[in-house]
Formats: sequence, C-alpha cells, structure tokens
Amino acid sequence: MNNVVMKFGGSSVADAEKIKKVAKILVKKKNNLKNVVCVVSAMGDTTDELIEKAKTISENPSTRELDMILSTGELISSSLLAMAVQELGEKAIALTGEQAGFKTYGRHGFSKILDVDTTLIEEKLKHGYIVIVAGFQGRNESGDITTLGRGGSDTSAVALAAKLSCDAEIYTDVEGIYSVDPRFYKDAKKLDHISYEETMEMAHLGAKVIDPRAVELAQKYGVRMYIALNTADVLGTIIDKEDLVEQSIIRSVSAVDGILLVTKKLVDQSIADLFSELANEEINIDVINETLIDGEKYVSFTSLVEEKNKIENISEDFSFIENVSKVSLIGNAMRNESGVAARIFNVLNANNVKFYQVSTSEISVSIIVDTQDKNKVMELFIREFNL
Ligand code: ASP
Ligand code: MG
Repeated sequence: MNNVVMKFGGSSVADAEKIKKVAKILVKKKNNLKNVVCVVSAMGDTTDELIEKAKTISENPSTRELDMILSTGELISSSLLAMAVQELGEKAIALTGEQAGFKTYGRHGFSKILDVDTTLIEEKLKHGYIVIVAGFQGRNESGDITTLGRGGSDTSAVALAAKLSCDAEIYTDVEGIYSVDPRFYKDAKKLDHISYEETMEMAHLGAKVIDPRAVELAQKYGVRMYIALNTADVLGTIIDKEDLVEQSIIRSVSAVDGILLVTKKLVDQSIADLFSELANEEINIDVINETLIDGEKYVSFTSLVEEKNKIENISEDFSFIENVSKVSLIGNAMRNESGVAARIFNVLNANNVKFYQVSTSEISVSIIVDTQDKNKVMELFIREFNL
C-alpha cells in the first residue's frame, strides 16, 4: 500500500462536526488502500487564544513555556480526530510531535526541523492504524518542546511526506491555488498545476496561498504537494517541478499594500553608509533605486509604512510617499520569454497609470503604484494576460 500524508488546517477541524467530517475523509482514503498519516493544526483560533492566555499571566512570557502551551492546541485536535476515526470503527492513534519523531533545532517559536524519525509511525501504519500527528511542533536536543512558527504545520506535513516518500496533500478552505486571489476577482482561474518556485514567489509577493517554508522544503526533497478543499471532493492544485507543457507566460498577479516609498538626496554620504545605518536599525527594505537628477544623486527604496518612524529617527532628510502598493506578475515562462516587460509598460502607458518603481526577478515583475490605482492595474493585467 502507498503512503499518503494529509494535512488539515485549523479551520477544517474548528469544531466537533468538522472533525467528524475529516475522520470520514481519512477512513475513505484508507479504504482506497492507502497508509494514511494525517497532520493537524490546532482547532480554529486556538493558537491565538493560547497566546492570549499566556498574556493574562505575563506580557513577556518565556519562550520555552510559551512553546509548551502553544503545542497543546495541536494535541487537542489530534486526540479528538483520532477518537473520531475510532468511532467509525477504524484503528487510529494520535501522536505528539515528539512521539512522531520530530527533532527540532533553533529558537523557540521559530524552530526548524532537523530530522524526523518515522520508526513509530511506520510501525503503526504496518499494523493498520491511521496515524494522526500533532503538527507545528517537535522536541529539541535539550528535550524541550518547540514550535515551528505560525502556520508551521504545513511544514510538518511536508517533512513527513519527504521521510515517507509520498505526496503531501494539504486540505484547506479554498479549492486550490488561483491566478488571482478569488476574494479580489471572482472569475480567477484555479490552476491545475504550478511549480514550487512560482508558488513561493506568489507567497512572498502577497498571495495568501500556503506557507512558503513548506514549499521550499517540498522542493528540496522533491515532495509533490496537492492543495485542495477540505471536503476532498473537488480537484485542487498540484505543486511540483516546472512542467514542460506549454503554459501561459504569466500565471498569477498579486498585490501587497502598505508600502512606503522613501527618497533621500545623497550628500556627503555613500550609499553603502546609508544602507548600513538602515540595517543597524533593522529596517525592512525592498526595492532600491539610485538616480541622478541634474547632477545630484538620489536614492530611493521601498519599505513598509510601519517602518516610517524608525526611518525618520535616522535623519530628517528622507521624503516619503505613503499609500503605495506593489503589484506583481509571476510566471516561470518569463525566464525564456522576452517582451513581457514591454507588454507591461505598454499596458500601463496606454492607460495612463503612474508608477514609481519596477523590480524584477527571474520569474516575476513588480510595479509600485499608488494604492488607489491598485485595483485598476490588477484588472488591466488580468485582461492583458488572460488570468
Ligand atoms: N496552529 C498553528 C498556528 O496557528 C500552526 C498552524 O496552523 O499551522 O500558527
Ligand atoms: Mg492554526
């Protein structure tokens, strides 16, 4: 029998009814002759509530103990789900992250997976159990419970799939990955297939798809991922290596708001010194441009609106433009395809869209525009590239 790892997020196990539905899906999968391992997140908003609970005692709780309390969210959902499967007459066992073999390292609250010893899981699978694993957690070298950072159970699922040489199926409250966020554009297309790189780029450029850390791990170990609705009865999106089938140049458009555009005239200061100062203050910086106007050197860069105070504290000579957004187009085929930039500029020009900066990676182009123009720009791109 083949293995499969199925992961259900917090909204899919938010209450008893939902947990019972997931249990049915697991049993059905088992009946389709699969060895089923299921990774779960905490029920609904449990993790946020646990953080709140810790704050009723301490404004600054110790990170070791915070990890301990946070890990309980997934213990509850995994135990309940195992009980629900047992109610259906199937064998099931719930395992903590540690029992499932997750060895972690690094900071509490942001730890990483060192390895997973799947001996116990494989033993239980062999004896016909559906194995339910508490996501988002493991045990470090000192024997302490650690958590993997918010949204970390996607990564738990991919790590298990890598060790068990199988797919990671991520069930969630959307039908898959879309060319455009369907909350923004109702006719957005669901993609049948997308590459690891495009998915990561989309996540970094504002699309709320899936935790990019999980995709990175999947790419590293060649784990095929499948993102689908938690009813498991509609076709979702497969994420794996770039496919050779011809695909449209642009796969997706996404946007990030709350960008701050910062400009400064460089007088008696090198650009290196300026950015060292900004780095010392740990200011988050994205696109950087240097321009010469009438023999004067100007540097401009984008940051986030939240960083404005910190930047002002460095010097009074910065000027700011707020309420700007970054609209990004993403597609693997851009690598080999010329003329994408020309098409983008033609569209912007033909529609008199003002833009401030453009930056590119191998597989994306991002344009900084006024937030009030964001929707218009996205719609223009959706039409131009048939998204
Ligand atoms: N329950 C954790 C969180 O809310 C982990 C996860 O959902 O993946 O961040
Ligand atoms: Mg959660």
